[in-house]
Amino acid sequence: MTELTFAQLGLDQRMLETLEAENYSIPTPIQYQAIPSLLKGRDLLGIAQTGTGKTAAFVLPILQKLSEKPVKAAPRRPRALILAPTRELAIQIGESVKTYGRNLHLRHAVIFGGVGQSPQIQKMVRGVHLLVATPGRLLDLIGQGHIELDAISFFVLDEADRMLDMGFIHDVKKIARLIPEKRQSLLFSATMPRDIARLAENLLKNPERVEISPKIVTVDRIDQHVYFCESGEKRDLLAEILADENLRRVIVFTRTKHRANRVAEFLSKRKIETEAIHGNKSQGARQRALANFRKGDTRVLVATDIAARGIDIDDVTHVINFELPNEPESYVHRIGRTARAGAQGVALSFCAPDERPYLRDIEKLIKSEIASKGERPLMEHIPQKPKNEQSQNNRPRRSNRKRGPSKAAGAAPQEKSSKPARSRRRRRGPKAA
Ligand code: AMP
Repeated sequence: MTELTFAQLGLDQRMLETLEAENYSIPTPIQYQAIPSLLKGRDLLGIAQTGTGKTAAFVLPILQKLSEKPVKAAPRRPRALILAPTRELAIQIGESVKTYGRNLHLRHAVIFGGVGQSPQIQKMVRGVHLLVATPGRLLDLIGQGHIELDAISFFVLDEADRMLDMGFIHDVKKIARLIPEKRQSLLFSATMPRDIARLAENLLKNPERVEISPKIVTVDRIDQHVYFCESGEKRDLLAEILADENLRRVIVFTRTKHRANRVAEFLSKRKIETEAIHGNKSQGARQRALANFRKGDTRVLVATDIAARGIDIDDVTHVINFELPNEPESYVHRIGRTARAGAQGVALSFCAPDERPYLRDIEKLIKSEIASKGERPLMEHIPQKPKNEQSQNNRPRRSNRKRGPSKAAGAAPQEKSSKPARSRRRRRGPKAA
């Protein structure tokens, strides 16, 4: 297919200049599929995850349409509303609005819970054209009379499936009822469970449907490997892997907040610059950790799925799944943090015997096997056993299609390992699912 340009999508000169300054040379698939129909005023159902360029796909046309009718921002009455499930995502969307709209004379605000209301209220009283909000704080401020939604003409629900996971769906419906029927509505979701499909039916009128398969994001551009190990070996394995300085900007995922803290403490003790972000941290602490990570002061960010969802940090070189997620979709979201917008990324996963079923589900979802790393070097450390026993226990689990040094992965703990052979044998023991 010939490559479309942003100009061909119908974006105006001011937008084009901004995009050029941002070095966005060609639109991503969701952008060239969504922008023209959004500029025509169509509703949109976008099945896409972070990393596909979806934020620009909705922010650019909305900003353009808002700027076509230049009215002064009315106190308390925004004209566009973007709902996001987490404060991090809301902040990030706000940053995109600021970047893409810098040549336009539009005002925007970002509101979310966990911080004082006053600055947010002041902004609303002065008036904004576009509001980015999380549902709880938005309803609070509506309840207190600081915001009215009767002038909204553009309504975006971002990461609808995450809204559902986080229990916001009733709030979302309540908010949608306060917005005039005559509006342009957009709903984005990485997955389409039945509740979200029903919500989309209620919110959207004759929507254009754009689906960006996560497979494009993950399997094609991300080097994926799995290490089979015992749970108790994971920390040392992580430290060994991080000894390689090619792992410049790393996100380590855990399933729980508790584990995130433990892993961060362990790495800090090993003098590896690490911070953890998760739901129990204060808003300020999370923002500080993210800022340090962005600047490169913190090399490793340890995160849980919810905390990391929607974080937009470019140039993450490696994602390490310290624990595999029990929902296979989360794997796709996690590893989507690396290989953003065209870059090559690496995702390494630690799989303990009791996580094998999770791995199977993930491989089913991404429709390919994740290459195993470590078997060959580990095998070299295993003393030869009688043939019949060896063929059962030490048989490499997979064909290792992708095996071999991967450009950026480096990091295999190969030669250095000092683990006793006994524990290695257990790695591939018959109890593995
Ligand atoms: P998103 O999926 O909206 O979170 O975007 C992922 C990342 O891709 C962000 O860092 C954007 O700045 C970047 N991005 C979005 N669209 C483009 C594009 N057309 N060309 C290059 N980078 C882009």
